[in-house]
Amino acid sequence: MENTPNPNPAPENKQPPAMPSLLTMAGNLAYTAGAAVTNAVIHQQVMTSDNVYNKRLETCNSCDAYDKEQWRCTKCGCYMRAKARMIAAKCPLSKWTE
Ligand code: SF4
Repeated sequence: MENTPNPNPAPENKQPPAMPSLLTMAGNLAYTAGAAVTNAVIHQQVMTSDNVYNKRLETCNSCDAYDKEQWRCTKCGCYMRAKARMIAAKCPLSKWTE
C-alpha cells in the first residue's frame, strides 16, 4: 500500500505562553485604571497620540515577552492594543520611551 499524506492531520498541540496570575493581572489593571483616572482629572487626557501608540506597539512587536498571537504581554498579561493607548500605562520592563 502506498504511503500517502493524511489530508486531515491532527492539530498541533501548541500551548499558549504562560501569563501572570489572575491576581497579578488584576493588580496591573487596577494600577493602570487608577492612573488613567488620575490623568483624566489632572491633565484631562487619557489616550496617547497615534505616534506614541505606534511606537509602543513597535517596541512590543520586537520584544520577547510579547505574544503576537494573542496581542498580549506575557509580563503583565495585558492586551497591548488597548493598554498601549493609555498614557498612564507602563511597560513592566521599562522598554517604552514614552
Ligand atoms: S509591554 Fe514591555 S515587556 Fe510587555 S511586550 Fe511590550 S515591550 Fe515587552
